[in-house]
Amino acid sequence: MSDLDQNLQKLSGHLSRFQETGILNQIAGQAVPAYSGETFETRSPVDESLICAVAKSGTADIDAAAQAAKQTFPAWRDFPLTERKKILHAIADGIVARAEEIALCECWDTGQALRFMSKAALRGAENFRFFADRALSARDGHSLPSPTLLNITTRVPIGPVGIITPWNTPFMLSTWKIAPALAAGCTVVHKPAEFSPLTARILIEIAEDAGLPPGVWNLVNGLGEHAGKSLTEHPDIKAIAFVGESRTGSMIMRQGAETLKRVHFELGGKNPVVVFDDADLDRALDAVIFMIYSLNGERCTSSSRLLVQETIAEAFEAKLAERVKTINVGHPLDPATEVGPLIHKTHFDKVTSYFRIAEKDGAKIAAGGTRFGKQGYFVNPTLFTGAKSQMAIAQEEIFGPVLTCIRFSSEEEALEIANDVDYGLTGYVWTADMTRGLRFTNQLEAGMIWVNSENVRHLPTPFGGIKASGIGRDGGDWSFDFYMEHKHIGLATGEHKIPRLGG
Ligand code: NAD
Repeated sequence: MSDLDQNLQKLSGHLSRFQETGILNQIAGQAVPAYSGETFETRSPVDESLICAVAKSGTADIDAAAQAAKQTFPAWRDFPLTERKKILHAIADGIVARAEEIALCECWDTGQALRFMSKAALRGAENFRFFADRALSARDGHSLPSPTLLNITTRVPIGPVGIITPWNTPFMLSTWKIAPALAAGCTVVHKPAEFSPLTARILIEIAEDAGLPPGVWNLVNGLGEHAGKSLTEHPDIKAIAFVGESRTGSMIMRQGAETLKRVHFELGGKNPVVVFDDADLDRALDAVIFMIYSLNGERCTSSSRLLVQETIAEAFEAKLAERVKTINVGHPLDPATEVGPLIHKTHFDKVTSYFRIAEKDGAKIAAGGTRFGKQGYFVNPTLFTGAKSQMAIAQEEIFGPVLTCIRFSSEEEALEIANDVDYGLTGYVWTADMTRGLRFTNQLEAGMIWVNSENVRHLPTPFGGIKASGIGRDGGDWSFDFYMEHKHIGLATGEHKIPRLGG
């Protein structure tokens, strides 16, 4: 039996229970359908087949979940920290134990290739371990003495929080948001994306099996405009951590305004990778390809704009086109596959619409630009050359395996083009001249920049974007700053004089 057939067989074992019950919500430790009894379908992008029904929640379900999160908040806030740490580590252990099931379900649900999803599942466990170890110091503050007062700060968890996640690498992103919230002492209502609900259900089961008290973390499935909107408007939810499109972020800001929500946004990107002619071009080529064609290009940090110096552009683009044509498109459960299908029909239509737009605007399709196969939402990895910065393919987030290549003549021009977009998430610079590398990073408008490297996530560092790419930072202590309130306490010494009024 081939590896693919074996994986399909294992997958069908894991899916059968979802097919029997559908995907239920988890509220106060109970697996429940939506109050209305309504469901929606989730389908696989591989062959458009029905995976299962999913609870279609609305305001009543969000309200029940928010009540559960509110009721359990005081106990979880005051939970012994060493016990909290143990539970978070036990969740990580549970993820490792079910990593294969998570990876197979994630691939089938999202179209992501198994070679990447196996790692993403384990990254989810790492996220829990990282924040488990930091739970003990989450409340730490500063000592800022003045002459007559010992001023100290401490942090307290903000309260029940709402976490809204997208369909691209949904498992990893859920752990990335939920682990620090729990470590900080917040309780959680999680609304996963409607297009990829499978692994969020597995994750909460792992958490409760690991000993997380019921109601500390609640799962509510549903559509963004119903369940998502209700969550952002709920008065008992103190903050919203959101990962998704920039325009959804601005909707959430409006929806949360009435209840003065604290918001944390990780949004879209149109990230430049700038290759100067003195760079190690073989390494640069590998990194350029990896950072746009891995994860189907459905990756917020993807380097979707290649800015290449004129002096080397022709040869670099030719090599690039040759390599892009050899990328292995196929079934996501086949370990040899490098690019799988896009998430759903609407997204497939959006991505493929840029093939026509590129040609109409005068760019050249140097590779791809076509559908792959006849079934499912597969596209061939695509390379546009001869693009100009003002073209739609250079400005808009396509969010697929599609790279737009623009040439530049000088460092100044490269910087101007790199900054000439609404977004500012990541940037990548390739040069042998470290002085130039540093100068360029100083002026590049992006929240995260790598020089002579692909994106390598180091968990203690801040993750987030500027401009339309986000508000706030995740990672290390930055996550706690979002999920916690700073409190100032002043302790007076004997010398402190109290101003006196009257008699
Ligand atoms: P999306 O904005 O359409 O949906 C994200 C989530 O928001 C889903 O759960 C959806 O149901 C919910 N939602 C939709 N409308 C809502 C509303 N009115 N109120 C509340 N919730 C609502 O995004 P998507 O298409 O699922 O994900 C792709 C996008 O996510 C891309 O733009 C990508 O760049 C971005 N992303 C950013 C990062 C980052 O770290 N910056 C990481 C991953 C993905």
